[in-house]
Amino acid sequence: MDLRELYQEMILDHNRRPRNNGVLDQDGARHADGYNPLCGDRLTVYVGTDGDVLDEVKFTGEGCAISQAAASLMTEAVKGKTRAEIEKLKAAFLKLVTTGETTETDLGKLAVLGGVRDFPMRVKCATLAWHTLQAALDGSDETATTE
Ligand code: ZN
Repeated sequence: MDLRELYQEMILDHNRRPRNNGVLDQDGARHADGYNPLCGDRLTVYVGTDGDVLDEVKFTGEGCAISQAAASLMTEAVKGKTRAEIEKLKAAFLKLVTTGETTETDLGKLAVLGGVRDFPMRVKCATLAWHTLQAALDGSDETATTE
């Protein structure tokens, strides 16, 4: 199995069995909706913060395999991190999927989505979760879009 197949397998696995999937029902939890009109992907990201730390994050949604796997991988990557750490991860991830360039920030499993840069139509599927997370953290009432 080459690396590409391994990555594809991981994306399919996260799509079939999404991590942190569901509604976050706790005091002070916030959420935001996201929509990618190009593909029709929809996400709702729920966040629970403790000071500067994102201590709980969940999502619900429907859409293509990449959008759902990207949301699942995103929740795993950001849980327990500070706003500053999340900003860094987001910037590094957006750079990877749009340019293929890596930074000194370790993306861990998020790197499996790097292959979408070869499919420009799919980039927004992979970034929707991050835009929606940002909106939830910012307390935005508007639907985050990839446009
Ligand atoms: Zn999509």
